Amino acid sequence: SKLLNKEIEGALILDPEKVGEVSVKVAKILAPEREKLKLLPELEEVQKLALECTECGWCNRVCPNNKPMMEAVVAAGTGNFSNFEELYLNDVCYSCGRCEQECERELPLMSMLAKVGEKLAKDEKFNIRAGRGPVQDVEIRRVGAPLVLGDIPGVIAIVGCSNYPNGGKEVAEMAKEFLERNYIVVATGCGAMSIGEYRDEEGKTLYEQYSGEFDSRGLLNIGSCVSNAHISGACIKIANIFAKKPLEGNFEEIADYILNRVGACGVAWGAYSQKAAAIATGVNRWGIPVVVGPHGSKYRRLLLGRTDKKETWKIKDLRTGKIMDGEPAPEHLIYAAENMEEAIVMTAKLCIRPTDTGKGRQIKLNHYIDLYKRYYGILPPDIHLFVRNEKDIPITYKKDVKEILEEVGWEPREIPQEPSLMGMDGD
Ligand code: SF4
Ligand code: SF4
Repeated sequence: SKLLNKEIEGALILDPEKVGEVSVKVAKILAPEREKLKLLPELEEVQKLALECTECGWCNRVCPNNKPMMEAVVAAGTGNFSNFEELYLNDVCYSCGRCEQECERELPLMSMLAKVGEKLAKDEKFNIRAGRGPVQDVEIRRVGAPLVLGDIPGVIAIVGCSNYPNGGKEVAEMAKEFLERNYIVVATGCGAMSIGEYRDEEGKTLYEQYSGEFDSRGLLNIGSCVSNAHISGACIKIANIFAKKPLEGNFEEIADYILNRVGACGVAWGAYSQKAAAIATGVNRWGIPVVVGPHGSKYRRLLLGRTDKKETWKIKDLRTGKIMDGEPAPEHLIYAAENMEEAIVMTAKLCIRPTDTGKGRQIKLNHYIDLYKRYYGILPPDIHLFVRNEKDIPITYKKDVKEILEEVGWEPREIPQEPSLMGMDGD
């Protein structure tokens, strides 16, 4: 009773059975009082509050995503809540509260948004595949060879936080693009949830359209954000199972194997916590590149390659010990894309690896060219860097690519059998 009468701030109960009983009883007694605290303003009240807006524009100015909060408030003042609804739907506004903090009229913008979204929230029902945990050795055995040879163009890991630059729909669209192109898509945490929020015309989510197998066109929910370790774990297993690389005390050799052979790329579209930045750079250490969203540049660490410095792409063939001209594959380790289209193109490019077979390279370049043409309207200007010999040129783009190769004075080059950066100068 002292607790309920607010005579004490709290109570420490060490008996686990008693604590269960007390907490349920206290919660039941407090429920009517808490009910009042949860009340959002009524819609009429939202409209009335909105009329107090001075149109100072500060809410828009401080919004990290430049979302039109002022316009939504002004429209709400006339009884039109559609702009608020647009902000609410698809997580376009991620309720960071920055606008509310800055509002000179101290309007409760988050409560106003929540009230307008209340009726929409009731209809929001999602489907998500259960988080499955690590990729098993048997699954790796099945797809390891096509992955290392390039027949499966890559593994795309959709990871990161939910403060997307333009709502969560883009995450599902990126996943769809790669699934349709036979990549394996693995997802964790917020990314995995966002994928489950969007349905096609038939009302199906991507989880219902694609299998959950770790195979070409498979869409896997690996688990929560901390399950990201299982994604790098899958790449490590490829090195262990296929190349018999010992796991213990062998970080450098395995990372070198992944960097040069396993076409995996992470996409962290929402950038929020330092933890997310640490995860991205953590997988970089294993040789896996990551594309981050526009806010990712605020982490203040990008690892960008220089294609203009040919001498930095030298590679060693472990089989012969020869140092030879390599290629920017992968070109970057952390890259911030400004929009979804740029991210899709870059992700496809960052799956190219020096060990791709001619057929594998054709498949990867076909996707890269196709996507580049769709979003930029031209052929990729750096395509010549990824053509090692004529067998690499995708048949559908043979004529166009050959024209570029002639223009830049391209020459075929030797392909390393066991490409590695170990034992090079500066290693
Ligand atoms: S809550 Fe944050 S994201 Fe939403 S409109 Fe305000 S400042 Fe922008
Ligand atoms: S900051 Fe407040 S008063 Fe200023 S435009 Fe935005 S909602 Fe209106």
